[in-house]
Parts: sequence; C-alpha cells; structure tokens
Amino acid sequence: MKVTVTPGRRLMARLSMGDDLLLALEKLCGELDIRLGEVRAIGAVSRARFGYYHQAQQKYEFLEMGKPLEILSLVGNISLKDGRPMVHAHIVLADGKGATLGGHLAEGTVIFACEAAIQEYQSGEPLVRQLDKDTGLFLWGGGKC
Ligand code: ZN
Repeated sequence: MKVTVTPGRRLMARLSMGDDLLLALEKLCGELDIRLGEVRAIGAVSRARFGYYHQAQQKYEFLEMGKPLEILSLVGNISLKDGRPMVHAHIVLADGKGATLGGHLAEGTVIFACEAAIQEYQSGEPLVRQLDKDTGLFLWGGGKC
C-alpha cells in the first residue's frame, strides 16, 4: 500500500467548450505541475467515450455516445506515468431521460461546459504508474507496493 497525506494546492477551473475532457484535465495538471492529487468535475459534454475493462481478457472495450449528456459525477486521481501527470477518472453521465451510464473516461469526450475541482497532494515519494502483470493495468508501484 502507498499512502500520502500532506495536502497541497486546491483549485477550481472552468474548462473550455470543445476541448477533450481528459486531455484538458491532463494539460491543466501539466501546466500547474500537479503530480499527485484528486479531481472532481460536473458539467455537460457534447459527446462521450468511456471504457469498460474486461478483466478476463485484460482489455478495454470503449463505448461512444455521440449526443449531449450531463456529467453527474467525474471522480479521479492524478499521478505520474512516464514522468508526466496522468489523470485516471471515471464518469457518470445522464441523458435527456435521466438514465445514467458511464465508465473509465477516455479521450474522445468533448466538453460542452465543465467545472473541475482539483486537490493537489504533496509527497516526497510520487505515485508512479507501472504495468501490473496480474491485472494488465498501469497501477501505482507496478504491484510492488
Ligand atoms: Zn479506470
């Protein structure tokens, strides 16, 4: 287990219409040098793409929704992968009937409007994503924690 407890900066940001949601969050973290923390957001997207991880096949299946949806909840974390901030986020969306769907946020989700809150954590030892052979996922410490 890896645990960090020292709080850092907190910020709120309005993300730009038309930008890719995941890339915009990662760009913001890169510009502000946020290497560890958590992110939350609400808003709306004009289209969405998110994944479901098939554990037995160790492979993501991506779903694409080419219509406007509400972001009911986006929760995620920020850590390092290949020396750069990486955002890992899951998203719950609602359509015009209030039906929900969601999954692992992927590139291809386009912002209509989005308000994000980021809490940075500071630590002497960053969390670095490495391939974990048991899951096939890039996890903190590569399974050595
Ligand atoms: Zn995920």
